[in-house]
Amino acid sequence: MAEPATLLARLASIVGGGNVLTAAAEVAPYVSDWRGRYKGAALAVVRPSCTAEVAAVVRACAEAGVPVVPQGGNTGLCGGATPHDRGDEIVVSLARMNRIRAVDADNATLVVEAGATLAAVQSAARDAGLAFPLSLASEGSCTIGGNLATNAGGTAVLRYGNARELVLGVEVVLADGSVLDMKRALRKDNTGYDLKQLFIGAEGTLGILTAVVLKLFAAPRTQVTSLVAIASVRDAVALLRHAKQALGDRLVGFELMSDVAFGLSRKHHPGTPDPLPGHPWYALVQADDSADDPGLADRVEAMLGAAIELGIAADATVARSVAQAAAMWSARENISEAQRREGPNLKHDISLPVSAIPAYLDEAERALAAAFPGVRFVVFGHLGDGNLHYNLSAPAGTANESFVAASNVERAQRIVHDLVAARGGSISAEHGIGQLKRGELQRTKAPLELALMKRIKAALDPAGILNPGKVL
Ligand SMILES: Cc1cc2nc3c(=O)[nH]c(=O)nc-3n(C[C@H](O)[C@H](O)[C@H](O)COP(=O)(O)OP(=O)(O)OC[C@H]3O[C@@H](n4cnc5c(N)ncnc54)[C@H](O)[C@@H]3O)c2cc1C
Repeated sequence: MAEPATLLARLASIVGGGNVLTAAAEVAPYVSDWRGRYKGAALAVVRPSCTAEVAAVVRACAEAGVPVVPQGGNTGLCGGATPHDRGDEIVVSLARMNRIRAVDADNATLVVEAGATLAAVQSAARDAGLAFPLSLASEGSCTIGGNLATNAGGTAVLRYGNARELVLGVEVVLADGSVLDMKRALRKDNTGYDLKQLFIGAEGTLGILTAVVLKLFAAPRTQVTSLVAIASVRDAVALLRHAKQALGDRLVGFELMSDVAFGLSRKHHPGTPDPLPGHPWYALVQADDSADDPGLADRVEAMLGAAIELGIAADATVARSVAQAAAMWSARENISEAQRREGPNLKHDISLPVSAIPAYLDEAERALAAAFPGVRFVVFGHLGDGNLHYNLSAPAGTANESFVAASNVERAQRIVHDLVAARGGSISAEHGIGQLKRGELQRTKAPLELALMKRIKAALDPAGILNPGKVL
């Protein structure tokens, strides 16, 4: 490894001294994660402004044998963007690379640099009379590069798919500093292996995304949001099927919240409405139409009325204004933040076939209640995609810190993930692996799949300088 000072001087010559941060106070926000679970250290944080600078930075680091940790908005939930605590890595922040390079309304595509926030991408699409449908509670801070690197999901996957399905092209800096330019804006391209997909969901371990070509969609002109009270998760699954049949493609989101999750959101965000109090489960149902369709609200109401008659919904209310709809969505989107304010908790991001979820929850709840008497289940998520955030809070009155001790993390993960694996599910639906689930990936992924992943990593990053110790 070269002398750190030599490398830092070379990096400063590439990005300018002001964009090589080494002072502890300046580096601090980049070396811990949003949840406050990981605290790392870095030789420096480097903030390039263009693809050529990213390439030169990676080349310099590769030649010096110094690993790089790509970072976007640092909202990831698995510690993927946090350097290790050895302090021998360079964090490459993409935050300055935030330009919208082009919007092609006729082709319904947008080219954007990786450091643009998701909210900025959505706004650029709206300005062109179109929509970019990826939507997460963190959209004001997370970046499109981070979204693709984690293959983010969010609240509209049911209708539009996850990040992977919204990308047509990528520009990537590889481990040796070369630039792979695949910014093709094509919906059809069968010229061999689809290399761009390798970098999506790779969490910065195979290359650094510097720009991407995204698919845009017709903007919704009619939007109907409703909150439904439900007696059980079995009923929620039946309601989802019923809503799909009644609304077809207009059904965009179907979010599930337990009363505990919804209650935490109200507790930590006073003013959150509680229009249907006293039920064990709630679903937030979003229906959109790209046409002006005054009949959509009637169709949603008819669907909900029929659900109540069928006994698969207990009660329901439809938002009568944009403000009411926004309040319903805030209640859902504030759950993660509310959980953070409530104190440390054990988080799991699982997916299963939707049909397997009710039996899974019954079994997992029994096993966890036996292992952690009094544990509180903060269950919510994207039921429409078979994805739940199956989180556990300390029993009331118990010290949170001891509840999240490493031994409990492992014990809870084993219970939650073994039952997921037994039903053909995934231990990471949308948050990724990062450092948090590396061990669990080794434990639950088929050996041949793991071996192929390692061969891909070795082929693209033989010296192991791209985000080492993450994913694999
Ligand atoms: C309140 C809240 C709600 C959330 N809700 C959701 C949700 O509904 N669905 C969901 O999927 N996630 C959700 N997340 C998680 C998080 O916002 C997503 O994982 C997001 O995609 C991360 O983007 P980021 O820019 O913050 O990435 P970072 O946290 O900076 O990085 C995440 C990973 O991507 C890598 N990376 C970042 N940028 C690049 C790049 N340009 N090239 C290569 N690798 C890169 C990093 O090395 C790291 O491994 C939520 C987070 C919060 C805090």
